[in-house]
Amino acid sequence: AGKWGRVIEILKVFEEDCATPVGKLRQVADAMTVEMHAGLASEGGSKLKMLISYVDNLPSGDEQGFFYALDLGGTNFRVMRVLLGGKQDRVVKQEFEEVSIPPPLMTGRSDELFNFIAEALAKFVATEGEDFHLPAGRQRELGFTFSFPVKQTSLCSGTLMNWTKGFSIDDAVGQDVVGELIKAMERVGLDMNVTALVNDTVGTLAGGRYYNSDVVAAVILGTGTNAAYVERAHAIPKWQGLLPKSGEMVINMEWGNFRSSHLPLTEYDHLLDFDSLNPGEQILEKIISGMYLGEILRRVLLKMAEEAAFFGDSIPPKLKVPFIIRTPTMSAMHSDTSPDLKVVGSKLKDILEVPTTSLKMRKVVISLCNIIATRGARLSAAGIYGILKKIGRDSPKDGERQKSVIAMDGGLFEHYTQFSECMESSLKELLGDEASESVEVIHSNDGSGVGAALLAASHSQYL
Ligand code: ADP
Ligand code: MG
Repeated sequence: AGKWGRVIEILKVFEEDCATPVGKLRQVADAMTVEMHAGLASEGGSKLKMLISYVDNLPSGDEQGFFYALDLGGTNFRVMRVLLGGKQDRVVKQEFEEVSIPPPLMTGRSDELFNFIAEALAKFVATEGEDFHLPAGRQRELGFTFSFPVKQTSLCSGTLMNWTKGFSIDDAVGQDVVGELIKAMERVGLDMNVTALVNDTVGTLAGGRYYNSDVVAAVILGTGTNAAYVERAHAIPKWQGLLPKSGEMVINMEWGNFRSSHLPLTEYDHLLDFDSLNPGEQILEKIISGMYLGEILRRVLLKMAEEAAFFGDSIPPKLKVPFIIRTPTMSAMHSDTSPDLKVVGSKLKDILEVPTTSLKMRKVVISLCNIIATRGARLSAAGIYGILKKIGRDSPKDGERQKSVIAMDGGLFEHYTQFSECMESSLKELLGDEASESVEVIHSNDGSGVGAALLAASHSQYL
C-alpha cells in the first residue's frame, strides 16, 4: 500500500507540474507575441528565429505546369510530382512516394544524406509516366521542403543554422542546403533545377492558401513542431530588402525553439533535454511534439518503477531504453476505451515485456498519457493564440466578418485525436465564443508538398 501511495504521489506531482490553467496559457501566448516582436526586430533578438522565407506572394491558383517536390524533415521523406492546371483544374494529377531515412544517415555526413535523397529522387523520376509531359528542351523543376532552421539568402537558397528532431550532421551546418542537394543530384546524374527552398510550415501555408484564401498561418504538429504566418512587411524591422509589392512576407517562426519561464516544465523534461542531441534548444518542441511525448511517458513510468515498484520488485529492462515508447503507441493506449484497458495491457506487454498488469496500473498509464497530451495540446493552442494576437485576429473587429484560418498538418495532429480535439477546444477557450466564430482550424493534408510545388511553379525559370 505504501508503494502504491508513492505511485499516486508521483502521478499527482507530475500532474501539478504539467498544469496549464487558462491564465498560464495567456501568459505563454503573451510571451510568444513579445518574442515574435523581438525576433522580427533584429537577427538573434530572440529564441524565436522568425526567419524570413522570401515568400512574399502566396499561390493565386493560376499556377500551371508540371513540378517536382521533395520533403525532408523527419523520419520519412517524400518525393512527389504534381500537374497543376490553373484556376479551373487545380491539381490535375499528383503522385508521390515515401521513403524512410535510415537512422545512421541522420547523424552521419552531409554527402551521405544528400546522396541517399538524390538517388531516391532519381528513381522516382525514372517512373515518370506519359501524363506528366514536359515541353521539349525544358529542365525539370523542383520545390524543396526542408524542415529545419535555414537562413534563406533567396527563395531558392539558404544555409542550415542547426539541426533539430534527432538529426545531427555537423558538416552540413552552415552549408547551402540547395547547393548540397544540387551536388548530390550531379553525382547521381540527375538534371533538375531547384527553384524554391521552403520550410514545411511555409509550404503548408502556401498549400492551404491555394484552396482557402482566408489561411493566415500554418502549424505543424508532427515529429517536431513549428509555425509560419503572414506578416506585414513593414512590421519586420530586420528586413533590409525592398518592401515587397504585396506588402507581405511569410515568416517561419521556428517556434519549437520557444522557451519561457511560463512554460510548465517538469523534472522529466529537464532530464530529457539534458540527454538530447540539442540540450537547451527546442524546449517547446520537446514538450509538444511527436518525437518526445512517448519519451516523457517512459521517463515518468521509469521513475515509478524505480521509486515505487510500479512494475513489481524489478525494473523492466526495456523501460530503460530511450525512446522505446513511441507517441503512436502512447496515442493507441490513450484511445483505449475497453473496460479492462486491454490495449494498454497488450502494449505494455509487447513493448516493455511486462507480462501482466492490473487494471489500476493501466489506469495510471492512461492518466499519464492524458496529462502529457493535454499539456502539449493546450500549449499548441496558446502558441496559435499568440500568433492571432500578433496579427490582430484574436478579437472580432466591429462590422468586419474577416475569417482567419489556420492550416494544420503533421502526424500528431492528424492521428492523435485526443491531442487535436484538446488543442481545438483550448483555442476556443482562449478566444472566447465570439472570436471563435471567425477563427477556423483546418487540416491541410500534405499541403507542404503541394505548397512547395506551387512555389516552384510561381518561381519557375520559364515564366
Ligand atoms: P514528419 O513530422 O516527420 O515530417 P509526419 O507529419 O508524418 O512527419 O509526423 C510523423 C510523426 O507524427 C511521428 O513521428 C509521430 O510522432 C507522430 N504520429 C504519427 N502517427 C501517430 C499516432 N497515431 N498518434 C500519435 N502520433 C503520431
Ligand atoms: Mg513533415
